Amino acid sequence: MDAAGKKLLILASKLGYQTRGFADAAEALGVEVRFATDRCHKLEDPWSDGALPLHFENPRDAAKEIAQRFANDPPHAILSLGDRPTVTAAYAARAFNLAGNDPDAVELCRSKLAQREALRSSRLPVPKFFSFALGEPAENILPHIEYPCVIKPLSLAAGQGVIRADDEKQFRAASSRIRALLESPDLQVTREPGLDRLLVEEYIPGREVAVEGLLDREHLRILAIFDKPDPLEGPYFEETIYVTPSRLPEAQQAALRDCATRAVRALGLTHGPVHAEFRINEEGPWVLEVAPRPIGGLCSRALHFGPGRISIEELLLRHALQLGGIDVERETEASGVMMIPVPRSGIFERVDGLDAAERVAGVTEIQITARLKDYVAAWPEGASYLGFIFARGETAGEAEAALRAAHAKLFFEFSPRLAVEHPVTGRISA
Ligand code: ADP
Repeated sequence: MDAAGKKLLILASKLGYQTRGFADAAEALGVEVRFATDRCHKLEDPWSDGALPLHFENPRDAAKEIAQRFANDPPHAILSLGDRPTVTAAYAARAFNLAGNDPDAVELCRSKLAQREALRSSRLPVPKFFSFALGEPAENILPHIEYPCVIKPLSLAAGQGVIRADDEKQFRAASSRIRALLESPDLQVTREPGLDRLLVEEYIPGREVAVEGLLDREHLRILAIFDKPDPLEGPYFEETIYVTPSRLPEAQQAALRDCATRAVRALGLTHGPVHAEFRINEEGPWVLEVAPRPIGGLCSRALHFGPGRISIEELLLRHALQLGGIDVERETEASGVMMIPVPRSGIFERVDGLDAAERVAGVTEIQITARLKDYVAAWPEGASYLGFIFARGETAGEAEAALRAAHAKLFFEFSPRLAVEHPVTGRISA
């Protein structure tokens, strides 16, 4: 089918490299792209991209604004990048009568608590869990906790504010730390629902994988299974390496595929991209999280499909716009990406060793995405990486070794952020 003249609406919180990737793929196909974002309401089109400003925290209203704005010139497909716009996208798709997920199903996925409840009631393997309000006295909570546990906010992403605790002392310290994060102006301004509650879960040991999938009229196609070869044992959970194809035995991969299919069904997701995280141990797979959106950040660059090595962005666009050409498998070569960890919080001053890292055999690309002179926060307060290293290899082991070798050649320098005294309150913030 002809792509020319088709119109795509992209909803995103950040207009950064991920939106660019989709916009480039769309333009290459001759598809016209519009953006809607909640990044800023005060400035008049500061990025001169004509993006429609929205509040994704009020999805119904945001979708109404979209419907009004594009009433005479409706999009042929709507894509949500990142978690925040997914519910708005579902309502907007409905308004234009486009294929999309049920908004209620997407809403379920936005809350880690609601998602856990839905999965548990459909008998999917999830950790034991309960939630509590931030103001709740510790004495009410402590008797219910089994250690080790994981404490997390209800609606953040990228492992931000997720902490493991092995005993009561660690639990108390972790809860206060997450509370301070949730009460920080940076997060309060997002008006995310559930910033006043925490979720406590049983810690599930095991190997972790990420699954990229594509739903088409309720059928889940698995596009890739990424192993996460670094041990993610806490206390904080910054992602590092993703490598595909998975080296898990075929029986475990089959169990994962089955679990992913049951999980999307239990959540009521039916259409579009899915990114899901699982742990797997001797008891089988455990669902950590399912999100109705594509893989985040620049990680999508690790995926190519078919003899033409089309990008996942192109594949998803072709799917959304019903252009055909999507019956292509991931290439046979192994591929990996490292989200470059933040070793400590501070002002990012300098990176050395880039040339040497780029010369490592198998490395295909390195992108430093943190900006020089910007403050970068380490986990658990942090949520964005220093950058991304990409590598390919004949085997997953080769791709992983190339990522590690390249990372070992990089050196990042940080300086401490100076404490600033607030002119009115006199409070010191660092
Ligand atoms: P986010 O959506 O912010 O990434 P997750 O709930 O997926 O938050 O947690 C981030 C990471 O923390 C997971 O990828 C996993 O490594 C770890 N984690 C979260 N919950 C558990 C758990 N119950 N048991 C073990 N590890 C967990």
